[in-house]
Amino acid sequence: MNLYLKSISELSKMLDDKKISSYELTEYFLKRIKKYNKKINAFISIDENKSMEFAKIADIDIRNKNKNILTGIPIAHKDLFCTKDFLTTCGSKMLSNFKPPYDATVVKKLANKGMVPLGKTNMDEFAMGSTNETSFFGSVKNPWDFSRVPGGSSGGSAAAVASGMVTVSSGSDTGGSIRQPAAFCGLTGLKPTYGTVSRYGMIAYASSLDQGGVLARNAKDCAIIYDSIRGFDSNDSTTHNKEYNFSSKLYLDKDSAKDYSIGIPTNFIQNNLSSSLSKYFDIFIEDLKKLGFKIKDVELPIDKITIPAYYIIASSEASSNLSRYDGVKYGHRSQKAENLNELYFNSRTEGFGHEVKKRIMIGTFSLSSGYYDENYLLALKLRRKVCEEFKKIFNDVDFLICPSSTDVAFKLGDNDKTPIDIYLSDMFTTPVNLAGLPAVSLPTNFYKNLPVGMQIIGNHFEEEKILNLANLYQENSIWHKEFPGELS
Ligand code: GLN
Repeated sequence: MNLYLKSISELSKMLDDKKISSYELTEYFLKRIKKYNKKINAFISIDENKSMEFAKIADIDIRNKNKNILTGIPIAHKDLFCTKDFLTTCGSKMLSNFKPPYDATVVKKLANKGMVPLGKTNMDEFAMGSTNETSFFGSVKNPWDFSRVPGGSSGGSAAAVASGMVTVSSGSDTGGSIRQPAAFCGLTGLKPTYGTVSRYGMIAYASSLDQGGVLARNAKDCAIIYDSIRGFDSNDSTTHNKEYNFSSKLYLDKDSAKDYSIGIPTNFIQNNLSSSLSKYFDIFIEDLKKLGFKIKDVELPIDKITIPAYYIIASSEASSNLSRYDGVKYGHRSQKAENLNELYFNSRTEGFGHEVKKRIMIGTFSLSSGYYDENYLLALKLRRKVCEEFKKIFNDVDFLICPSSTDVAFKLGDNDKTPIDIYLSDMFTTPVNLAGLPAVSLPTNFYKNLPVGMQIIGNHFEEEKILNLANLYQENSIWHKEFPGELS
């Protein structure tokens, strides 16, 4: 039985019909983790006994008819969500022994629904990276090609679902970290509107951009999880308290498609997409036309500003957020220090990896007096410009589409790529975070046996709409059903 291909609803129905118990389902996935994780390295922490305890409780709820669609379904959490039952390392030596005393809101909400956590997934250190290679716990392999990266920073979460070691996973997206790994691994990934999912207990990278979300095999599963994690949280003052209309019921169909228009930022895409992928973008447009949508060319003149604005703002906020790791309160403490200054200095020198240190330096520089105006302040102005450009577009169209990355999954340890090349590959995802918009990445084709992912971007709070479009596409396509042959 290929349980690893089944969606949340399918597994939930099997639990309802007593075809399987949550205990058996959990055992099944733990077995797959045992078999494949050594090779893929998607998980940092697993605790079989803990997971089985969750499964037993879910089975009691099922027996007592106290069941919802998520009861007994396995999930893996990105290792930046605090969990009291598992270590929370954030992919860093700095937190390699950190056992939080509480659960993040996302983790708690899903546990309250009866989901069974299988473990914590590998990630770029402090979510800084696009390849998962900055993790202290070693790089993750792409399930479609072990010589390639799964993307980052939620690369472990993506590889875990793509290899069938778990049904769904949580992720976070500061500049693309859900959508780009989803694209590289052939999954569907939702980055919600900023502030719709609580950041409480999600270890901070860049607070004005960070957003929790989900990676799954299809849009429906994303909708079900999103419905359970969104909402106001008194522990996160940036969450929204307005009630808005979202339900995991999906409504768009071929008859209503003609009432919706999709914007194509042609110039923005042509200037930045690798030539091998441009054909696949055209095919995606054709597919949407066939579904009945109106297609419109739009201008998005932000290519020159989005990457500098994003990396200055993200690094500036990171330099401030990461100042808390000083070897005193929690996290790695150097054994070599003889006075307080040495304790700070050595703990941070030993605890952080290269990419994190680089960003702390860029951020500290950008915020320092004398350089603030020409760096941080300028980046904020550019961010405003990005927001205004999107606003203009959404006055005119319902959706915007663009690729999720400039290319397919990169080779592991690719020496031909400079750090700047890697930053530039975030061209299509970072503007969405700068503007706080929701977007979903979905698989739309394969290029040389590697998944190709495209994004559907919506206006603020329009998760329902973009998931509907993704779902309609998936009802009429096969790409999301593909699975790496070697792992079946
Ligand atoms: N690749 C981007 C970065 O390194 C995005 C990371 C993220 O979304 N967490 O900042």
